[in-house]
Amino acid sequence: MHAKIVLLPGDGIGPEIITQGQRVLETVAQKFGHQFDFASAMIGGCAIDETGDPLPEDTVKLCQDSAAILLGAVGGPKWDDPNAKTRPEKGLLGIRKALDLFANLRPIQCHPQLISASPLRQDIIDGTDILFVRELTGGIYFGDSGRSTTDGVESATQSMVYSVPEVERVVRIAGEAARKRRGKVTSVDKANVLEPSRLWRSVAERVMREEFPELEYEVVLVDAMAMHLLSRPRDFDVVVTGNMFGDILTDEASMLPGSLGLLPSASVGASGPGLYEPIHGSAPDIAGQNIANPLATILASAMLLRHSLELGEEATAIETAVSKVLDNGLRTRDIAAGGDAVSTTEMGEAVVNELNAA
Ligand code: NAD
Repeated sequence: MHAKIVLLPGDGIGPEIITQGQRVLETVAQKFGHQFDFASAMIGGCAIDETGDPLPEDTVKLCQDSAAILLGAVGGPKWDDPNAKTRPEKGLLGIRKALDLFANLRPIQCHPQLISASPLRQDIIDGTDILFVRELTGGIYFGDSGRSTTDGVESATQSMVYSVPEVERVVRIAGEAARKRRGKVTSVDKANVLEPSRLWRSVAERVMREEFPELEYEVVLVDAMAMHLLSRPRDFDVVVTGNMFGDILTDEASMLPGSLGLLPSASVGASGPGLYEPIHGSAPDIAGQNIANPLATILASAMLLRHSLELGEEATAIETAVSKVLDNGLRTRDIAAGGDAVSTTEMGEAVVNELNAA
């Protein structure tokens, strides 16, 4: 395999964690006989400082011409001025749009070694392994909005729109993912109240019946799902839902493992490069100190191999190496619970050593 991978370190701890992600990918390339060509580009606050634009045209071109992209994080207090002409987050939304990345994949796995970090009881959380597939470029966040005043009373509206092809393509991503996992898809909507949800439900049911008849399929209302996630998270495999419900449910679910520094995510389209990143932000409070946890980025690089390069064995090798490092008791400060902590570099090194030893 010969593939071009673009690195977008971004701001804050971004450069430190991306360095470790790259090291791990280089180790995989050596071990499995692949060639990965890396190119770096600017996005977010550092790009604003350098060019005035959070997403320079060169960055977009480089990404469009790549097999996959590994992103750190963007943003920080330096660019938080509400009166600023542009903001780092615009870079993130811009690259998703430029590459038509309409599905966000977020695995929620509870690592047994860190189970005590979860706010839930161990007997509830044990064995939880969910893949959320959130529609990312449609729905209410992209609907027409406006304000009006009638008889002196001001009101605001925002419309929620979903088209049949928008639902079909994201449900297909969920079905394909479930085929490689435990074979179950849960579609989440609010069809008892919302018309776009009724369309979502009928399209999802048809796609699943016609294209994935061998999979187990269920529908759950979003309010019930919010409860089930806390009472029986183990029962879910792949969960597919719209933009706003996905936004809220994935944040709720990210609390289940109790360790933000271990959760990766991917944004993918129908074809072309996917974008892989940790779910946490740029952690400006610890930037430049070599104490950030690089494992979410390292696990994002495993997702990159599995989803964009079809290198499932190599992805599993990274995930196994991370698990062994945790088994060996290595912890960065965020997951050390007051005990001894290793640095960002030492954690990356430990994963590389486990990969080489396997
Ligand atoms: P954050 O995720 O950056 O940090 C929250 C807390 O978690 C902080 O105490 C931080 O030190 C800690 N933390 C986060 N990642 C860590 C890691 N890998 N290792 C150890 N500790 C870690 O969220 P925030 O403080 O709300 O946001 C900071 C900046 O990041 C803001 O500018 C925000 O807009 C931006 N942000 C960017 C993204 C992204 O690029 N996708 C996502 C969320 C927030």
